[in-house]
Amino acid sequence: MNMTTKILVWMVCGLIVGSLINGFAQNVAFIQDYFVNGLFHVVGALFISGLKMLVVPLVTFSLIAGVCGIGDVTTLGRIGIKAFLLFMLTTALAITLAITVAVMVGPGQGFDMTHAAQGEFVAPAAPPLTQVIIDLVPTNPIAAYANGNMLQIIFFTILFAVCLLMVGERGRPIIDISERLNDVMMQVVTVVMHVAPYGVFALMAKTFALQGLGLILPMISYFGVVALVLLLHLSGTLMLLLKFLGRVSPLMFLRKLRTVQIFAFSTSSSNATIPVTLRTVEKRLGVDNSLASFVVPFGATINMDGTAIMQGVATVFIANVYGIDLGVTGYLTVIGMAVLASIGTAGVPGVGLIMLAMVFNQVGLPIEGIALIMGVDRLLDMMRTAVNVTGDATVSTVVARSEDKISMDVFSDPAAGQVEEVHLPHDKKQSA
Ligand code: ASP
Repeated sequence: MNMTTKILVWMVCGLIVGSLINGFAQNVAFIQDYFVNGLFHVVGALFISGLKMLVVPLVTFSLIAGVCGIGDVTTLGRIGIKAFLLFMLTTALAITLAITVAVMVGPGQGFDMTHAAQGEFVAPAAPPLTQVIIDLVPTNPIAAYANGNMLQIIFFTILFAVCLLMVGERGRPIIDISERLNDVMMQVVTVVMHVAPYGVFALMAKTFALQGLGLILPMISYFGVVALVLLLHLSGTLMLLLKFLGRVSPLMFLRKLRTVQIFAFSTSSSNATIPVTLRTVEKRLGVDNSLASFVVPFGATINMDGTAIMQGVATVFIANVYGIDLGVTGYLTVIGMAVLASIGTAGVPGVGLIMLAMVFNQVGLPIEGIALIMGVDRLLDMMRTAVNVTGDATVSTVVARSEDKISMDVFSDPAAGQVEEVHLPHDKKQSA
């Protein structure tokens, strides 16, 4: 059984076990204490920490190696601008599609408030755009690394790498070391991926044990439209971009991206998935490290197609529930706001709701409305994160193709970069 199939099987098992617990063992203290909040919680949390642990060192060494690999600032700038524009374009297309479908289907019309899960949503303050721009430059790079602030890390590391090139020969040893450390970090990713099936199982079992599917029923119109548009964007918009702009086979792309999508789905975090996305984009899709090292972490932070889709549908849904007519200008504002909001907010679980609060503020929809959709947000977060990372990989591939920085031999080889058995050093000694 290959790794992807193995992870998929464990994921489905986790889903079934979790749902069974939710259905039949909600009040069995033993199962709740020792399994849901014990074993599953610990294994799942360990797995997420294991992934997050890799993000900062991997991105740093990979970026230094990547930027020095490109070798000139003009090409770097061109790649950056292309990626940025495509990220914004895909997000705008995603939310436009979401609003169009939602307006046509009309979720939330005649919605019965009495059956909805009523909670309270307190919107955390989101930073204004001016602050987001100021925050691009870290006052203390060590603090940026320590806090995992991705945009600041990218800014400082690129500046550092460009200056490495500028000092010439004397910078060479540092570039060499970064390339080697990058290789080592990639190997760490491969090792961590070997425990993925159990981590994914634990995360799924815990989530579904706590989140009964029954929550979805009163919200089925909202949930259904978000799921439908996520699927349309994933199998339509992104695949068309790959086919016509990237001139590569969408089917091969999807086949290789499955592992990344499962990681995103089970962790609900584009950021925690960066190591796997980066590995897949480079080793499985054949994109050059010089491009992937930069575009992938950039995308995980600023590109959120799936999240934009949720925001589009949520806006129409809440407007319908409260009988508010937003009009064309209102919806255009929503599109603009959602695109801007995605730049300043990182890809971590649940951030979509914070962005939604920013959008609602702007168009004057009641923030309390968000409480209605909170109950089903955990599950939708998983689905939209899978779409977010697919968008990151799509843009990386399309830009790589336009810059001729992708190996089509690797891309077309179904087995390229598959996670193989790991051999620990003592195995080698034994066999020698
Ligand atoms: N969890 C999403 C991500 O990490 C963001 C969100 O939609 O809440 O990409």
